[in-house]
Amino acid sequence: MANNKWDIIIIGGGLAGLTAGLHLAQNNVKVCLIEKNEYPHHKVCGEYVSNEILPYFNSLGIDPFKEGAKKISKFLFTTNNGSALNAHLPLGGFGISRYALDNLLYENLNKKAEIIFDTVEKVIFEKNQFFVSTQGKNVLQAAFVLGSFGKRSNLDTFLNRKFMRKNSPWLAVKAHYDYEFPSDTVALHNFNDGYCGLSKIENDAVNACYLATIQSFKKYGAIPAFQKNQLSKNPHLREFYSKAKPLFKKPKTISQISFQKKEPIINHIFMLGDSAGLIHPLCGNGMAMAIKSAQIFAESFLKNFENENFARLKLEHEYAALWQQEFGKRLQTGRVIQQILMNPFASKIGFGVAKMVPMLLPKLIERTHGTVQT
Ligand SMILES: Cc1cc2nc3c(=O)[nH]c(=O)nc-3n(C[C@H](O)[C@H](O)[C@H](O)COP(=O)(O)OP(=O)(O)OC[C@H]3O[C@@H](n4cnc5c(N)ncnc54)[C@H](O)[C@@H]3O)c2cc1C
Repeated sequence: MANNKWDIIIIGGGLAGLTAGLHLAQNNVKVCLIEKNEYPHHKVCGEYVSNEILPYFNSLGIDPFKEGAKKISKFLFTTNNGSALNAHLPLGGFGISRYALDNLLYENLNKKAEIIFDTVEKVIFEKNQFFVSTQGKNVLQAAFVLGSFGKRSNLDTFLNRKFMRKNSPWLAVKAHYDYEFPSDTVALHNFNDGYCGLSKIENDAVNACYLATIQSFKKYGAIPAFQKNQLSKNPHLREFYSKAKPLFKKPKTISQISFQKKEPIINHIFMLGDSAGLIHPLCGNGMAMAIKSAQIFAESFLKNFENENFARLKLEHEYAALWQQEFGKRLQTGRVIQQILMNPFASKIGFGVAKMVPMLLPKLIERTHGTVQT
């Protein structure tokens, strides 16, 4: 596979990379995607996807409901002491595991583009061309490179990105369970120093995924003790973790999750999805943003690519501006909501206000989500 030449090399086959690959390959762009893990595989994620990307998915021939995705229209929020708030989700969404969704995109892309399973180690830009080297000693050449390698990757170190210089206090844990739970609801249960999302996925299992600070986790040192003694102070989580039957041998975990600002373009590499910026998971919108960033890039690229006077820098400016316009405010709102939720005093006041003004919660949710384009 050495010295192959491509229009675009995509590094990382999560939702952003796979979607961009599919969109571009369907429009006759010569695409090669490099992903380090074979499909299907589980990922730490809340697995609630906002409906805002459904029309776009349909245009690419992707139908998550054929895989059994659950329609979700209700939101339940509870505080650490168990007080509950119910709301209707303005846009709604669906529940599907990353195991199923990433694999669905992969199977579709595999018919149209080259997919290599390998870890990219270096990306060099020289004389208006990219040279991408992998652990498996492949060296590939392309006119453009998309960085869709997620929240944290060896390539962030290679590119000397600012956010890698600072430790992040967040870790996350996820597993699937057998448990009675309404399939039209996504629940967000707050606990001291974190929150846990519950929703159903395609096979009727419940996905439980929580974000917590490393500091509070260290007090207990192990996942069962943390769930029993910290999460279970919230009575809804106590009920869940005492009755739910785990379907994984052991939960999946990640740490060093950074919510710091990132750059949408570095060394002429276009960043998509979490590589460009991660929204706080409580907004339940990172997956839709990853997919949407793929759409923004692909549409912009295809429009410019057809133009005889195609200029790399013009495309870079256009993508960076569109990215900021689409996601800047959402990320900012996500940061504010997270700060309120993590502060017991502010969160108590916020809960009281939201209880008195029922429209407040749907309005806040709207601010972190895009619109459905038909
Ligand atoms: C705790 C938690 C809960 C969340 N819950 C939700 C939710 O309910 N709803 C929602 O919409 N969003 C949620 N999110 C956000 C969502 O998971 C992400 O925004 C989404 O996965 C981003 O997709 P991506 O394609 O950018 O990255 P990823 O899905 O992480 O894909 C990146 C890919 O790049 C590959 N890769 C990395 N480095 C290399 C390399 N050097 N070479 C080759 N391949 C490489 C990785 O193997 C990976 O497959 C949550 C996030 C967290 C942390």
